[in-house]
Order: sequence, then C-alpha cells, then structure tokens
Amino acid sequence: MFNKILIANRGEIACRVAATARRLGVRTVAVYSDADASARHVARCDEAVRLGPAPARDSYLRGDLILAAAKATGAEAVHPGYGFLSENELFAQACAAAGIAFIGPPPAAIRAMGSKSEAKALMDKAGVPLVPGYHGAEQDAAFLQREADRIGYPVLIKASAGGGGKGMRVVSASADFAAALASCQREAAASFGDDRVLVEKYLERPRHIEIQVFADAHGGCVYLFERDCSVQRRHQKVIEEAPAPGMGVDRRRAMGEAAVAAARAVHYQGAGTVEFIVAPDGTFYFMEMNTRLQVEHPVTEMITGHDLVEWQLRVACGEPLPLPASDPQGALRIHGHAIEARIYAENPDKGFLPAIGTLRHMALPAAVEFRRSADGAPLPAAVRIDAGVRAGDTISPNYDPMIAKLIVWGDSREQALARMRVALADTHIVGLATNVDFLSRLLHNPSFSRGQLDTGLIERERAALFPAHGAVPHEMLALAVARVVADERAAGNGDPWQSRHGWRLNTLYTRTLTFKSQSGEHFGVHDVTLEYGRDGFTFEHGSLRTALAIDAVQGSRLSLRLGDRRLAADVVRDGDDLHVFLNGRHQALAVVDVIAHAGEGEATEGRMTAPMPGKVIAVHVAPGARVTQGTALLVMEAMKMEHSIVAPADGVVEEILYGVGDQVDEGAALVAFTVAVPA
Ligand code: ADP
Ligand code: ADP
Ligand code: MG
Repeated sequence: MFNKILIANRGEIACRVAATARRLGVRTVAVYSDADASARHVARCDEAVRLGPAPARDSYLRGDLILAAAKATGAEAVHPGYGFLSENELFAQACAAAGIAFIGPPPAAIRAMGSKSEAKALMDKAGVPLVPGYHGAEQDAAFLQREADRIGYPVLIKASAGGGGKGMRVVSASADFAAALASCQREAAASFGDDRVLVEKYLERPRHIEIQVFADAHGGCVYLFERDCSVQRRHQKVIEEAPAPGMGVDRRRAMGEAAVAAARAVHYQGAGTVEFIVAPDGTFYFMEMNTRLQVEHPVTEMITGHDLVEWQLRVACGEPLPLPASDPQGALRIHGHAIEARIYAENPDKGFLPAIGTLRHMALPAAVEFRRSADGAPLPAAVRIDAGVRAGDTISPNYDPMIAKLIVWGDSREQALARMRVALADTHIVGLATNVDFLSRLLHNPSFSRGQLDTGLIERERAALFPAHGAVPHEMLALAVARVVADERAAGNGDPWQSRHGWRLNTLYTRTLTFKSQSGEHFGVHDVTLEYGRDGFTFEHGSLRTALAIDAVQGSRLSLRLGDRRLAADVVRDGDDLHVFLNGRHQALAVVDVIAHAGEGEATEGRMTAPMPGKVIAVHVAPGARVTQGTALLVMEAMKMEHSIVAPADGVVEEILYGVGDQVDEGAALVAFTVAVPA
C-alpha cells in the first residue's frame, strides 16, 4: 500500500478519499485554492499545499502545480476524485512520466472513452448495444440533417466531448434540426472547446441505469451491479439508488456482462461506470463510460459492503481485486437497498439555478461510519453523510454547488425511503437556497415511491413537486412567534411589556407580529396576534385562537404547546428571517414586528419606551400629530428586526424624544403621548 497520496480535489470527494486513506494508514496531502485555505478537506488531510487563486483553471486544474506538490511532499500517488483532472488523459500521462501513480485508469482508456462518438465506435465493435444513431466523423450540417431524418424524430444531438448534462438538444421535427444543431455546436465549442456532435434516437420515458465496474492490472474485471440514476433535472442526477427497482436477475447479468465487455475493450483498470439508457421495455443501450469514481458510488458501497476507494488504492498499487480469484464475480452480493440524495445549493423554483452564499446554519443528520463485521459480511451504515463543507463555509461560484450527499441504507427500498425522508427532515440549511425541500417532496411523491422511475419524472410531476404555496400552517407561525419571544427573553428583555414602565395601561397587552413568506414568485403576509396574559400567551391566527406556551428553548430547538398539541422544531434566525424546520417542512418567514398595545380606556398619557436596546431608524410623525390607535410612530431596529412603535390608543403625540440614527437603551422613553379621553 502507498505511504502517502495526494488528493487532487476538494469538497466532499476529497474528504471521502481522506477518510479511507486514514483507515488504511495512508498519509494524505491536500491541495487547495485561496478560496479553500480553511476548507474542510484541508483539515481532513495530514498536509496541505496551496495551488493558487480561486478559479479552477488557476488551482485545481493546474496539473503542473499538483505534480510539483506531490513531488515536494513525497506523495507516491494522486487521487483525482471526480471532475477537474479526473478524466484528463494528459494529466494521467504526466503523472506516469513523473513516476507518480495516477489512481485511475490508464491514459489510453481515458482517451478511448473521452469522446462519446469514438467510444460508441469502439463499443459497436465490442458488441455492446448502441442507441440507433450517427456517431461518425462527418459533421456537415446537411449530412447530419439527413442522418436525423433517417433515424426518425425525436432525436438527440449531443456534444461528443460533452458532460455534466451540457451540450444536448432534443429535436422533435426535421424543421427544427438545423437551428438546434447550430446552438448545440455553439454550446459545445464554448463549454468543451470542441464542436463535434453525434445524433441519436431520443428515447421516450427512458431510465438511466449504470453499471459500476472494477478492473485490476492482472486481468480481473467485475461489475458491482447497477445504480438507477433516472431521477434527473436538466439531464443531471438528483437521486441515485441501488439496486434499480424492478431489475430482474437476467437483465442485471446481461447489463453487467455488457459493461465488463466495454471495460475490457479499452483495457480498463480501476473504478469505472458504464452508463446505459434503458427503454421502457427493458432494452438497454450504451450511452457513455465515465472513467473515474462517480458521485453516486456510495450507494454501491452500501449494497455491496465494499469500500470502492480502498479498491482504487489497492488496484493502483498493483494488487489484484480483493475478491477470491476462483470466482470474483460470484463473490459479490447485493444486500438491501441504498439511496443517495444530492444536496445542492440551488433554487428548484427558479429552474434549479445554482445558488451561492454562506451556510450560516447547517445541521445534518447524524452519520454512522462505513464498517464491516469481522467475518467480512457487510454491515451497512444506515445513514451516511458525505459533506465537504461545514457551517460557516461559503458556496462560491467557482466550484460545483453541491453541499453534501445523504446516503441511506435499508433492508428494503421502502425502509431506505423512510430513512431518507427522516434524514432530509433533519437537514436544516440556512443562508442560501437549497434543494432540500424539493428532495423531501420528491421522496414523498407516489410515482417515485412506487419506483416508477424514468428521466421525465420530475417534469411530469411538476404540479406535485412545485406546489403553489401561500397558506402557512398555524404551527409554523406559532413556532416563529415563539422564536421571537424566546430571543427577546434571551437578550435580557424579559417580556416586552415589563420594560414599558411609563405606561399606564391595562394588564393585557396585545402584540401583532407580521410575517412575510415567499415561495417562488408567491408572497404572503401573515398577521399573528399574541396576547401576553398573566397565565401565558394566547395565539391568534386566522380562525385559530388558542393558548401558546413555550416549554423549552435549547439553541435553535423549541418545544411548545399550541392548544393541546405539542410541537418541537428547529427555528433558526438568520437576520430578519426565521427558518422553521418542522417534520420535513421548511418555512422561511421574515419578521415584521408591530408591537400593538391595546390600552383599553384607563391610560390618558404615557411615554412609550424602547422594548429593547436598539437604534431609531425612522420617525413617522411630528410633535402635535393627532393619531389613531395603532398608527406607527417610529421604527426601531433591534436584534436585526424592525420594531414599529405604535400609538397605544387614539391621542396626540406630544414629543418625539429621539431622532433617526439615535441609539437607545432598553426602557428609554421614546415618545411622550397623550391619550384622547373618550367623550
Ligand atoms: P456523475 O459522477 O454521476 O456523472 P456528475 O456528472 O454530476 O455525476 O459528476 C461529475 C462532475 O462533478 C464533474 O464533471 C464536475 O462538474 C463536478 N465536480 C467537480 N469537482 C467536484 C467536487 N469536488 N465535488 C462535487 N462535484 C464536483
Ligand atoms: P453526460 O456526459 O452529460 O452525462 P450522457 O450522454 O450521459 O451525458 O446523458 C446524460 C443524460 O441525458 C442521461 O442520463 C439521460 O437522461 C439523457 N439522455 C442521454 N441520451 C439519451 C437518449 N438517447 N434518449 C433519451 N435521453 C437521453
Ligand atoms: Mg453521463
């Protein structure tokens, strides 16, 4: 085994490789860009070397700097992870030339599979089934149009050098072909520096099923079964699972053997994935081979009980596959079911647009480490979290916006789904848009739950997956109110009315809290009234009026009683926004706090006092103004919230005691006010 390896990547995959290396007693060297100097992957490795500025082309794509770092630190091998240099033939060659092992396939195998067109030509020869299409060298537009007409519509134009779901166009009629071709070529040239394309039949309602293969340098080559990656958005994976629902023994063997044939045809070594597109009748066709470890490899680890990174390291230092030589394939078994959900910083309501920002709060479910029992039988972790970031880190536009992967295992698909629903409900991220709620809805979707998977699922289930929100449940609002009150108490303000010494009002105070919600393009305003009574609070929202009691507050965790219901939830404050995480639902509510005081009758004059220390940010009235009860007199900013100080009754503003920008102490008199005496 190697003594020391360099991990030429960042984020979760760098952390994940470091974990296996540590378990094997292999020392690790991290590399980092300026954006990642204090990143999690740097902390997870024994040493770290700076590469350069944040952009990948100045850091993680600088093969020369990475090799220099490997030499300087005495690393014997480089693990490229995925993305970046993982499928770069020249980098693999440079490693070999420098006498450093590249933990991946031989350069020639990377080259052979690097172009989708050339890979198809090779696969055709090896007898691997292909989607009907044209993948030759001729790129003349009129020629390609004739090929498309021959194949029959709809067709898919793909960039030969494409990846990551980019450079693809579906064309449904001959008349649209020329324009789609031109736009695909433009995107391919811009994204991959290569405008060559292939054209193939576009399958309707297909599934994406891929086979994990593994080969050693001694002629050993096995498949570690399939992963179903049909649940996609923009041709990119969202949920992956293994085994594929509905996969029969015979088809599994046929696909596995086709994948092994594909790998053997390019003299493959190490971990690789052969992707197939599968028609509704089960016919499968080769799509491409990814010559690296894949993002979704953990589901395979969970169902087989093997650590694929460990296998990569063993194979890269010349060991045979860690399986009995007599029947390596026969030694592999599927245990239970595993599902992975990719947590992305992105906005599902806005076409899954990537989001950037700081992870101001991040709570992930508890994980159990990958392990194996003494007799070698797999003991899968029930929940595994592969994360590359910590709370406080930023998701920047420089790199992939993936935050973490949740991977769960169950005896059955049903159990795995149930665990995933719970794991997602325990995933609380504040500070930027994420797909967590979307994933939750997906995990509850009946088609998905029944295993009726195909690549069009998300589009077809739009109505259910992107519900038109609006109504915010009472419980969510009660939890938000409780957070406001708890924060005020924690800040030493007790309850706001206690500090208003100057007031001679009735015992009962009523406060209106206004919350704003937004989901997609929908905005909502929700008024909640909170009465401070001697025996506790009364909560009123819409048709519900009931007692509210805050039982416990522990960090973001709140326990309360609303009528005869008990609720416990995480409610996280982020500036003006409260994030309520209740039973797998996440509701962001912006606070617009209006403290309304229903002084009934007795008071005739008073000074309104500051409910908490803060700053006056607006004055709405002039001395002498006659106002009605509830009129906003001035606005204070405190604890990042705006508090409107309103007239407790109809009356006259005698004097405004502070101006805009003034800092005021808790209890400071703000306004001298005379209550109009009812005639
Ligand atoms: P798969 O491995 O299943 O094909 P992707 O295509 O999404 O899934 O993963 C490969 C892609 O991941 C790369 O092409 C790149 O865009 C992205 N990527 C690169 N580096 C990282 C990283 N450190 N963490 C997560 N994703 C990365
Ligand atoms: P990438 O390199 O971006 O991963 P792939 O060739 O693997 O490109 O295709 C990505 C996705 O596009 C597939 O998972 C599938 O959803 C869809 N796709 C690819 N080829 C076809 C096809 N012939 N018919 C229908 N969908 C396809
Ligand atoms: Mg692919």
